[in-house]
Order: sequence, then C-alpha cells, then structure tokens
Amino acid sequence: MRYPKDGRFGEFGGRFIPETLVPAVEELEENYLKFKNDKEFKAELDYYLRVYAGRPTPLYYAKNLSEKLGGARIYLKREDLLHGGAHKINNTLGQALLAKKMRRKRIIAETGAGQHGVATAMACAALGMKAEVYMGSKDTIRQKLNVFRMNLLGAQVHPVGSGSRTLKDAINEAIRDWIANVETTYYLLGSAVGPHPYPVMVRDFQSVIGEEIRSQMRGIGRTPDIVIACVGGGSNAIGTFCPLVETDAEIIGVEAAGRGLESKKHSATLSAGSRGVLHGMMTYLLQDKDGQIAKTHSISAGLDYPGVGPEHSYLKDSRRVMYHAATDGDVVDAFLMLTRTEGIIPALESAHAVAWAIKVARRRRRSESVVVTLSGRGDKDVEEVQNYLNRNVKD
Ligand SMILES: *Cc1c(COP(=O)(O)O)cnc(C)c1O
Repeated sequence: MRYPKDGRFGEFGGRFIPETLVPAVEELEENYLKFKNDKEFKAELDYYLRVYAGRPTPLYYAKNLSEKLGGARIYLKREDLLHGGAHKINNTLGQALLAKKMRRKRIIAETGAGQHGVATAMACAALGMKAEVYMGSKDTIRQKLNVFRMNLLGAQVHPVGSGSRTLKDAINEAIRDWIANVETTYYLLGSAVGPHPYPVMVRDFQSVIGEEIRSQMRGIGRTPDIVIACVGGGSNAIGTFCPLVETDAEIIGVEAAGRGLESKKHSATLSAGSRGVLHGMMTYLLQDKDGQIAKTHSISAGLDYPGVGPEHSYLKDSRRVMYHAATDGDVVDAFLMLTRTEGIIPALESAHAVAWAIKVARRRRRSESVVVTLSGRGDKDVEEVQNYLNRNVKD
C-alpha cells in the first residue's frame, strides 16, 4: 500500500498543527514506520486481532436478501461480529500496542457517541494500559451507558463543558491535553482523520478488512465487482477500499444524507462540502462561506462528523471512488429489510452501505457480486429505530 511520505493525498491531508505538536507527530511517524514492519509487533497485533477481537471475520453470502432483490449476489463482510461489535477495535488495538512500544504510560482519546471511547478502553484494558477519554458533557448525558461502560473498563471519562458540549469540543480539549503532556501521553485517534501520519496509520490498521475480502472472494473463485462501505470519518471505508483500489472493482462510499441534502440536516461531507482545514488536515468539510463549521445531522451517531479522511477527498476528486449519500428514511428501510431477511441487525451507520447495496444490486446481473462492509452491529440502535418509526407513524 502506498505510503505518502509527506502525508499528502494530492492536495489533501498534510499537517496543519501548532508548532508545539510537530515533535510529537514526527516521533509518532518515526515509531510507526519502525514498528509497522517489525516482526514482533506484527505477530503481537495479529495475535490480539485473532484471539481477542475475533479475526478473520466471515464473508457471508446474503442469499435471502439477494434472491428477494433478484439482482446481483450480495456478500456481507461481518465486522459486526468483532469484539465490541464494530470495526473500531482493529484500530484501537493497533494504536494502543504502538503506544505501549513507545513506552507511553497514558492514553487519551475523544469520543462522540462513546463507541470509540469504549473501543479504546477495551484495547487499553487488554494491554494493561490506562485510558482517559474526553467527551462533550451533552454527549455524556445522552450516552450515559457508554460512560458507565468505559468506567467499568477502567477508563476515566472527562466531560467537556465548553462550546456546543459535543464531539468537536472534546477534540479541542484532547488536543490541549496532548500539547501539555506530549512527553508522557499518546493521543489515540478514532478514524482516518487528523494530521499525518494518523490517516495513513488508521487506514493501515483497518486494511485488514479489505485484505480479508480479497482473499475470501478468491477462496470462492470470485472477484468483487462492486464494493460498498459507509463513510463517517472514513476508517472502515478506507480499510475496505485500500487493498482493492488497484483491482477492477467499482468502489462506492456512502455518507449520511440525513433528512436530505437540501435540508442542511445531513453529514454528507464529500457530496455537499468544500475544501478547508480542520483537525490538522486539508480535506472536504461542511462549512459556511466564512469557514465556520456547519452543524451536522444523521440518524447514526457514528457518521455525524463535519469532516472526512483526506484520502477519501483525494479518491473522490480522482474519481476512483464514487461517493453517494443515503437518507435516514432509506437507512431505516435497509435496516428493517436486512434484519428481517437475514436475521442480522446492522448498525445504523452500516445500514447506509446496505441501503446503497440494495439500490445497486437490483439493477445488476445475477453473475455479479456486491461486497458490503457491515461495520457494526445494531443492538445499540434499536431504540433509535423504534423512536423513528413511532415519529413517522404519527406524522
Ligand atoms: C464509528 C463507526 C462508523 C464510522 O466511522 P468510520 O471511521 O467512518 O468507519 C461506522 N460504523 C460503525 C459501526 C461505527 O461504530
């Protein structure tokens, strides 16, 4: 896989950070480059991915769903079966192990809905490390069960009361902490975003998804014709796409169109955004004409981010990957259809990819294959779906 030495994907990516952080990210990059090819590091990470997290995940032929639609064969990459219920553990194990090799005593992270905070707390508990997680105080109330989960796992949660008291304020606070404690602290980022080397490093840790897809499809004598994943920050998608961009597969990323792109209540950064700088990277953003970051909306908390990983911005402009957006309504329909036909409850994030797969598979021949990354399981989302259905019955 390509390693961009300057951290640039075309004009995107880079390192837009205060001078005080430059030594920290340089040291991180140096260590990442050293350990990513280190035999012992790779064996240890591989061990945890297999025996602790549950890799490899199955590639499941969704026969009932495919036959119901009457088009292409749909295969589901079952990241929902991983420990913790989502792909996030691939990244948190990788980074936590790297932090351990770098002899960092303290791990900090930030979290919105709490999913990344929980995945960080799990990886740190498994590796015998201490995690501190920043979370907007509004989110700590909305997601109090995830706060309790993190506490159970031995992590300390710091509620952030400034600004809108949500994810972006938690990110600011985590960065402030990192600047003050660079020597002792490792900042564990949750998606393929941020200053170089984070987007590349998170991509590499998640690329196990696409590598397994390639070999599992080969195992059944096929190559994927179409590959689909949902895009929030973009880590499960880039991990799916990266090992397949050199193949002939058609590749599609699906963002959250929320209540529709015209409504402004969405988080479809690539479909509706413009170039700018946020969280240390040049990328597409949802912003107004003065560069103020827009409010975002999605039925799925995990896609509710006004930026996107810089490599996706590059893949969009180079047209190697097509990006579309699915509305809350389409997503709930897909959630219900997959649950009923296959007995698999997908995360609402993943249901964005499923919604697009349903649309595409209908129009394709039976001989073709659509691979969908099911980034997580939907047990966490059943109440949200119930509320959505109740609201829309009343309307
Ligand atoms: C967090 C999350 C996402 C969004 O994150 P990416 O970095 O875009 O992958 C998608 N699906 C699930 C299940 C998640 O928990």
